[in-house]
Amino acid sequence: MKRILVTGGGGFLGSHLCERLLNEGNEVICMDNFFTGSRKNIHHLLDHKDFELFRHDVTFPTYLEVDEIYNLACPASPVHYQFDPVQTTKTSVLGAINMLGLAKRLRIKILQASTSEVYGDPEIHPQPESYRGNVNPIGPRACYDEGKRAAETLFFDYHRQHKVNIKVMRIFNTYGPRMNPNDGRVVSNFIVQALKGDPITIYGDGSQTRSFCYVDDLIEGMYRLMNSRDGFTGPVNIGNPGEFTMVQLAEQIIALTGSKSELVFRPLPQDDPLQRKPVITLAKEELGWEPKVVLEEGLKKTIAYFESIL
Ligand code: NAD
Ligand code: UDP
Ligand code: UDP
Repeated sequence: MKRILVTGGGGFLGSHLCERLLNEGNEVICMDNFFTGSRKNIHHLLDHKDFELFRHDVTFPTYLEVDEIYNLACPASPVHYQFDPVQTTKTSVLGAINMLGLAKRLRIKILQASTSEVYGDPEIHPQPESYRGNVNPIGPRACYDEGKRAAETLFFDYHRQHKVNIKVMRIFNTYGPRMNPNDGRVVSNFIVQALKGDPITIYGDGSQTRSFCYVDDLIEGMYRLMNSRDGFTGPVNIGNPGEFTMVQLAEQIIALTGSKSELVFRPLPQDDPLQRKPVITLAKEELGWEPKVVLEEGLKKTIAYFESIL
């Protein structure tokens, strides 16, 4: 049994990860300041004898004794990370420094939840890990993209300079139960709008693409990366290569919900990436991982979740 720290454990991905780690027989310390996460996400874990909740902001130092760290703390949807952009960069950068300092002192493994946003608005399609990206450093998304890029830099420098055992994961758009219905991400927005019969808000002409990974697949990839061979640091893309336009996504959600909602078109936000799709060869080779849940199946489960909470 290991004692594992999950920062951002009260969020969408973090809560699924805490559950998975408990199911594997570990002790879990969930650290969260509940900026975007919710106690509801982990309510069912609070009575678990091996689960501990620690309300704390990762930008401040923490002195704990643990065996592994998963660093997920950071708002992830554009609406939330742009709400207080300075705090977003602080969370990525100071959070990485504090967690790496902790990992260095304890000589333990640490996994970073990085993002496909490090590729910015990519000029290479699909994106392999070797692509260095096209990020606007002064735009409204930079607090997130550059914060995550700086965190990757810190991870690799702590690795080279202090021999910290790191695992860096570049997560592509992920969806599933426990997404926050108000966080503005496309899958949650479209499902909530479809279920309420409200207009479905397509930003731009809806021809931009994303690749959507179901949460269970994502958590499996994360777990395999943490437990991958010594010396394998990543960065490794974890995502589903199925690529869809936002109009296709909207049409699929309308069909699955039987909704009468209509599509309405709204301005495309500044610096919104036009296309995104992971190359997952490295994940297949190193982790024996590939996604199993196709979009339709994952959307059905996600729709069922939103029906239960709306
Ligand atoms: P989320 O917003 O649901 O979860 C983030 C959690 O971090 C929340 O519980 C929030 O309260 C917490 N948090 C934020 N700032 C904090 C701070 N300063 N101190 C402590 N806790 C803090 O988002 P998510 O989708 O679960 O994302 C989790 C991680 O995965 C993030 O690092 C995100 O950047 C990364 N990621 C997610 C996606 C995705 O599609 N969901 C894609 C790429 C990367
Ligand atoms: N840190 C922490 N817990 C620890 C060890 C370090 O939170 O158990 C934080 C502390 O804020 C420190 C940072 O991690 O400043 C970086 O640690 P490091 O050892 O790299 O740097 P230093 O202590 O020399 O500033
Ligand atoms: N989007 C949209 N309507 C919405 C919310 C988002 O058309 O109600 C678009 C958004 O402009 C982007 C895509 O959907 O092109 C994915 O947006 P999301 O915020 O989910 O993720 P990210 O842009 O970070 O990949």
